Amino acid sequence: MPDAVADAPRKFTLQDYKTDVHVDWCPGCGDFGILSSIQQALLQLQIPPYKIAMISGIGCSGKTPHYIDTYGLHTLHGRALPVATGVKLANHELTVVAVGGDGDGYGIGAGYFLNTGRRNLNFTYIVFNNGVYGLTKGQASPTLRKGLKTKSMPEPSIQEGINPIAVALGAGYTWIGRGYALDVKTLVPLITQAIRHKGTAFLDVYQTCPVYNDIRTKEWYAGEDIGRPRLRRLDTEPDWDPVVKDPDDPDEIVGKKVRALQASYETADRLAVGLFYKVELPTYDDQLAAKVPALKDHPLVDLPVFQRDVTPLFKELE
Ligand code: SF4
Repeated sequence: MPDAVADAPRKFTLQDYKTDVHVDWCPGCGDFGILSSIQQALLQLQIPPYKIAMISGIGCSGKTPHYIDTYGLHTLHGRALPVATGVKLANHELTVVAVGGDGDGYGIGAGYFLNTGRRNLNFTYIVFNNGVYGLTKGQASPTLRKGLKTKSMPEPSIQEGINPIAVALGAGYTWIGRGYALDVKTLVPLITQAIRHKGTAFLDVYQTCPVYNDIRTKEWYAGEDIGRPRLRRLDTEPDWDPVVKDPDDPDEIVGKKVRALQASYETADRLAVGLFYKVELPTYDDQLAAKVPALKDHPLVDLPVFQRDVTPLFKELE
């Protein structure tokens, strides 16, 4: 839990997490549900807005930091995670939330997605997963399943879509979940848990793109064609237990990962949402502080090394 939560000087309202910037996503876009859920989660956690940094890549979802009244950086395509890593290392007292789309994170930023998982810095990564590159007119993204053809594609995809939960399990993320953009009631607690988690939390969110993805529509997720919801809520299943009790027990870790992996694969009429896997392991931040004791009391940005005049260095490089 970030210290910032305990330090909150007053009760923040939902308005404190909103900006005046016009939200210009298309009407009916699932991004609205995710934005609202992030704002409500921050409200519930009562983290002061000035102790939060929202970091995004490029894509429709990349605009999210513009709409949340915290520190924020709208970075390059696929680069939300390395920038979030730098922000967290420079000031570990900030609550850092990286956001981006599936094309941004699983395509162009795929290398960062893997390496962020094995590092276990204490921050959250939320992916708005709609199966297309919405901002550039709906090309197939890495999660679009083979054989599907959305409305701006000339032919069905001949590549298989990736399973982000499976990749995250392999990469080493210590909190892994999946939500649905139009189910704010269950998405808010997932985001709250992800931010509270000590370590890197990864949350994939199924997101509807009514303009370009005419296959996975809200009616499709609701299962109107099969007569029951396609989404299977893991938390309602009596024997579902995704939390590792003993992080020193490799058998328990492997067993929990295998169950999560099995649940993460989609079938034609079943998609699981909820918490897939959670384990408490030493974070990168803690391991760094053990090597550099000064970091226990002060963030890197406040240490004397940052107070030095670096002008001579820049002069030397001119
Ligand atoms: Fe949302 Fe799709 Fe419009 Fe982008 S193109 S804002 S993802 S509906």
